[in-house]
Amino acid sequence: MMGDLSRNFSKAEFACPCCGQANMDDDFILRLQLVRTDLGVPFSPVRGGGYRCALYLRETNNEYSAHGEGKAIDPDLDRRHYHAFMRLCLRYGFTGFGMKQKSGQFQIHVDTAQEIPGKRPRPWAWTY
Ligand SMILES: [Zn+2]
Ligand SMILES: [Zn+2]
Repeated sequence: MMGDLSRNFSKAEFACPCCGQANMDDDFILRLQLVRTDLGVPFSPVRGGGYRCALYLRETNNEYSAHGEGKAIDPDLDRRHYHAFMRLCLRYGFTGFGMKQKSGQFQIHVDTAQEIPGKRPRPWAWTY
């Protein structure tokens, strides 16, 4: 089924958990669709891993998150695909790479955010 953002992605998947808004950035979705097409494996954001509105960002104390610009995803993706996914994100110009491993739980974050001097370095890779 065709998504309403791109071939494989729909606004509903990226909805903010508190209000349902999904103001995703066109360039981000274009690049994410290139990753999705080449990867050949379906994925959606985890809950809260798509768009986040200003209120949600304040409540989670994460004012400079690329999720607030509609330029980030925390994909629900089996970790055996992480390497291929990250490689494709690099190829298609993603600038932020976060990796979490906590109590046997794994999550990755990728974004296309620009640098904010002193607040948000880019390109950048980090753990969380
Ligand atoms: Zn919200
Ligand atoms: Zn994230």
